[in-house]
Amino acid sequence: MSSPNPPILHRDTTDPSTFQAHVWGRVFNKRRDTSRVPLAFVKARSTADVVAAVKLAEANDTRVSVRSGGHSWAGWSVRQDAVLVDLGDLDLDASDGEGEGERPAWAGSRVVSCPASTTGRMLNGYLKERGRMFAGGHCPDVGLGGFLLQGGMGWNCKNWGWACESVVGVDVVTAEGREVHASGIENADLFWAAKGAGPGFPAIVTRFYLLTRPLLEMYQSLYVFPISEYKRVLQWVIDISPTADPDTEIVAVASYLPGDDELTFLANFTCFKPTKAAAEAALAPIHESRPAGAKIEVFCDGTSLAKEYGTQACANPEGHRYCAENAYVSNDEDVPSVLEKGFTTLPSRKSFAIYFAMNPTSRRAPPAADSQAGMALSMQSDHYFALYTVWEDESDDERCTGWVRGVMGEVERHADGSYLGDSDFQYRRTRFWSEEAGKRLREVRRKWDPKGRICGYLDEGDRSGVDGLKNEFEWKS
Ligand SMILES: Cc1cc2nc3c(=O)[nH]c(=O)nc-3n(C[C@H](O)[C@H](O)[C@H](O)COP(=O)(O)OP(=O)(O)OC[C@H]3O[C@@H](n4cnc5c(N)ncnc54)[C@H](O)[C@@H]3O)c2cc1C
Repeated sequence: MSSPNPPILHRDTTDPSTFQAHVWGRVFNKRRDTSRVPLAFVKARSTADVVAAVKLAEANDTRVSVRSGGHSWAGWSVRQDAVLVDLGDLDLDASDGEGEGERPAWAGSRVVSCPASTTGRMLNGYLKERGRMFAGGHCPDVGLGGFLLQGGMGWNCKNWGWACESVVGVDVVTAEGREVHASGIENADLFWAAKGAGPGFPAIVTRFYLLTRPLLEMYQSLYVFPISEYKRVLQWVIDISPTADPDTEIVAVASYLPGDDELTFLANFTCFKPTKAAAEAALAPIHESRPAGAKIEVFCDGTSLAKEYGTQACANPEGHRYCAENAYVSNDEDVPSVLEKGFTTLPSRKSFAIYFAMNPTSRRAPPAADSQAGMALSMQSDHYFALYTVWEDESDDERCTGWVRGVMGEVERHADGSYLGDSDFQYRRTRFWSEEAGKRLREVRRKWDPKGRICGYLDEGDRSGVDGLKNEFEWKS
């Protein structure tokens, strides 16, 4: 349903603190560059409001920026002189195609349709009632919009593949303000870009159509070691990952556990199975091969998406300052040595570093670009490494951001590239796609947004425009 007057706040006619509160209110990271001030803020309640925002930008000869869940670390939605369209109130419900009204052609196909601002927790709450799930982001409140466009490292990504591979269609508003649908057979180039372009997607997604999975039970094994065991434990995780159970996600984390003064290194195995017996059988070989010396051991404990969302929300508390960065370490590297500094010298008690095992997903042949499964996402290795630095005081900004950039500056010399989702292009220039996909993405962007109406990638000075990112390593001295 369209609202005749989209709620618009204009920079020049709104009290500055009110304007600022709307512009930054739903941005998760409290470390913000408030020197970026949009021209106007549009709280969209319908697709018509999104079209109105694009037209407003056109009339003012400026750009449009988009916000779904507000979880981009660098606040990509807030751009100088742009019309910011916030989709957080998009008045469109999730639907499995059944129920009242005309039955759409996709009803009964295990597809769910939902607005771009839907979060993983919201979607899985809806699907639970229907015995289904969607392998969205680990953090409950990440928006599907930003998450899926950049590929989406969701639950058990290492085996089930990237979340964007479950996108079967998108409704978008184009850079000219037209409403179009894109899928493998309709506007296929735009659909290809929707699976990996990230914040450089040249249109605004209002709605996703997503293939869901059966809802399974969840079990977890956990092994917590002193950080002195880091190398031995990470090597064990790396060795067992390629052949471990196909329904088990594997992650290793360096962090301070609550109430513990010692930095720890833990290996976490989250298993999705129909029964506890099946999970025990899947987790037993891992348990039997574990290194000695764990401080805490948990074998096949029952858990749930709701519980895991709670754990993630605690690890990523609201109201904090963050700096995240990441790299895909090359497959032939001595990974524990390359990552040692990142895992063992965290700059604050709330910070953490993760190793996310990606093999076997990382070893699959990429789908042909012109097939329905084709996707812009094309950068991966067996070893995903990310730093999540968390602190509270502004006075710690330089120390914490400096630590992240220092560690990554060394790690990236052993890496194939990076994931868009945990990156900040203002500071690090690296490879996000294969050569071929990066080139095609630039062409698709030029075709669908030749004037650079949609903001695109926030690089240093916000200059990337229609050209997008270079997709090259640029070593800093
Ligand atoms: C606490 C936390 C946990 C995270 N966990 C994970 C995880 O488990 N897996 C993972 O892969 N990533 C994870 N991320 C990274 C996250 O997926 C990205 O930051 C993502 O961009 C956030 O999406 P959003 O819609 O919430 O953010 P927003 O800031 O709203 O959007 C980011 C940008 O994406 C583009 N965009 C968003 N929506 C649309 C749209 N509808 N149409 C067109 N462009 C759009 C815009 O350029 C926008 O500025 C996490 C981030 C945080 C802060």
